[in-house]
Amino acid sequence: MKKFLLAGVIGFPLFHTKSPIIHNYWLKKYNIKGYYIPIEIKPDNLKEGLQSLINLGFKGINVTIPHKVNILSFADTITDRAAIIGAANTLFFSSDGKIRADNTDSYGFIKSIYDKYPNINFQEEKAIVFGAGGASRAVIHSLLNEGISEIYLINRTKQKAMSVSEQLGARVKVLDWNVNSKLFKNVSFVINSTSLGMKGNPPFHHSIEDLKKNSLLVDLIYDPQETTFLKIGKELGHKTLNGIGMLINQAKPGFEGWFGIKPNNDETLKKIVLDE
Ligand code: NAP
Repeated sequence: MKKFLLAGVIGFPLFHTKSPIIHNYWLKKYNIKGYYIPIEIKPDNLKEGLQSLINLGFKGINVTIPHKVNILSFADTITDRAAIIGAANTLFFSSDGKIRADNTDSYGFIKSIYDKYPNINFQEEKAIVFGAGGASRAVIHSLLNEGISEIYLINRTKQKAMSVSEQLGARVKVLDWNVNSKLFKNVSFVINSTSLGMKGNPPFHHSIEDLKKNSLLVDLIYDPQETTFLKIGKELGHKTLNGIGMLINQAKPGFEGWFGIKPNNDETLKKIVLDE
């Protein structure tokens, strides 16, 4: 009898994760004999918890808050993008129990842009990134990879932005939180990677009136689907994108590695995740 394939997500607490909805949808859609299981592991039990999953035959796991940074110390190999971002969200376990740590957020971010705007060109363009947390690092990493010429990084806590800039290179320039928006007139990409605008948080309040015409505004938030940031952007005639495509695309490399099939884009899945 063919064995069931096992994967899952670890974090603590785990009530906010959408990963089981996404992976269980694909398992059903592709008729795969497998399970994707949410498992709460407290920080103190991380090492033993990981080893138990390997012993049980898991193919790998997603990793979420609060383990994304600490998990790197248990990995045997770390992909370049996870090392640069300084955090992992996807682990692959080999048959001899070795752990490879990856970060698929940068892939998910850039893929979601090309899915909606296939002809977009980043070369020689400038971007603003609001926020300097884990998601911001993934966004900056992918924008740099795509050939963006300069990124203005703006974060409430400036020191955090400074350390991101030090780690990710000279193309990342830090500006003050209360920046004069006249500086934005040569900018054609703006990414909100703060939690401003997320359900239950204050709205995004920076002025985006001075951007280049027909810029692209991306909000990593998907609840609500259209934040004030995106609504204003649309009214100003810019292209807009929310975070649902990133969320689903970042899950694909893990699913493919554990279960052997690369999922296609699927509007029904987006709707299911957003409605949940
Ligand atoms: P994080 O590491 O906790 O960073 C949070 C960021 O938001 C920091 O830059 C923080 O600034 C800023 N922030 C929080 N409250 C603020 C406030 N009241 N005023 C100004 N700035 C504030 O979180 P993260 O993992 O980077 O996630 C950031 C956002 O991206 C969240 O909305 C998250 O849901 C979203 N996200 C989406 C996806 C997706 O797949 N679509 C993936 C990852 C994250 P300080 O440094 O000053 O605290």
